[in-house]
Amino acid sequence: MSKSGIINLKEVNSPYSEALKQAACRVIDSGQYIGGPEVEAFEHELAQSLHAPFAVGTGNGTDALRLILRAYICMHRLTPGQEVIVPANTYIATVLAITDADLMPVFVDADPQTMNMDISKVEQAITGRSGAIMPVHLYGRVCWSGTLASLAEKYRLLIVEDNAQAIGAQADSDGLFTSTYAGALGHAGAISFYPTKNLGALGDAGAVVTHDHELAKIVACLRNYGCDRPGHNLYAGINSRLDPMQAAMLRVKLPYLQKENAYRRRQAMAYDALIDNPLIIKPFMPAHPASHAWHQYVVRVPLHRHIFLDYLDDHGIYAAIHYPLPPYMQPCFAQYADLSFPISAQLADEVVSLPLHGADTNTISQIINAFKIN
Ligand SMILES: *Cc1c(COP(=O)(O)O)cnc(C)c1O
Repeated sequence: MSKSGIINLKEVNSPYSEALKQAACRVIDSGQYIGGPEVEAFEHELAQSLHAPFAVGTGNGTDALRLILRAYICMHRLTPGQEVIVPANTYIATVLAITDADLMPVFVDADPQTMNMDISKVEQAITGRSGAIMPVHLYGRVCWSGTLASLAEKYRLLIVEDNAQAIGAQADSDGLFTSTYAGALGHAGAISFYPTKNLGALGDAGAVVTHDHELAKIVACLRNYGCDRPGHNLYAGINSRLDPMQAAMLRVKLPYLQKENAYRRRQAMAYDALIDNPLIIKPFMPAHPASHAWHQYVVRVPLHRHIFLDYLDDHGIYAAIHYPLPPYMQPCFAQYADLSFPISAQLADEVVSLPLHGADTNTISQIINAFKIN
């Protein structure tokens, strides 16, 4: 579970540590440890920053996704058993949210350049049972196009974004709604504030962002046991609230999100300019810098990845693999083991995430450029 190594969280949070301590004291002294003004203020500030009318805090990003799907079921916009189109190349939490809501994932293979869902393959995955499309902005790169929005309109599908990795990034082309921010492009978006994410809490936290007032209301109800008024449970909900303590931490960091993303972009551009080794395929740079939040800088090493990883390790460079096995190949999803998504499978064998936050891109690039196979 620990992702320490590739990112030093103490260092990430050190510029904010005094403000974080003050905010923690404010919560301790408030006596309010569930819900209340701190959570409401953060929800308001988050919605404003993403140009969406509603944001609802949740316990984590996976629950944000699950609660969106469950709320659409409560609203009869989705029916259990319906299909949700989702990239084959994603983190497993995306798919767990779908199966947990008794919906069926229908996987679409990745585009080898963007590593995101190949939007040109979405239409052929649509069936009479399709209910939603769930794009994932993997590694911080926005997965969006006018085509995706038109497909959703044409087939009356919901677009639920897994925006765990791209908060603050903006789409090149228009969204379904007015916002251009990832997470607010479709009908609803889920955000994770897991500590390593671009806007990280000091523990678990998440949020749902949406243009739909009814959805926001039902998610707020579902996250609190399905309780719609004191002593009355309209839905069989869950307990997945955003803590005021985490809301207070996030309120400190939210105003600096664009600054943090700009720093990540500079780091990625430095690697792009400096890494020059025929054994390493650099990530494809987006046409519009704002459409990538660089949650991870992911290179591909088609040959001898394990030797490259050992080499980095020998030079004291922490790298990681996001992700070694796509969800459809995981033992818990044995029912999908016969499916084949060659690009996603290949990416899983080739990807290496380089250190980004706090990384010395000059030195690391020099070391990478000196890598060779004898
Ligand atoms: C982190 C992540 C999630 C889950 O978020 P949690 O807050 O850890 O529950 C979902 N999808 C993707 C793509 C993620 O990176």
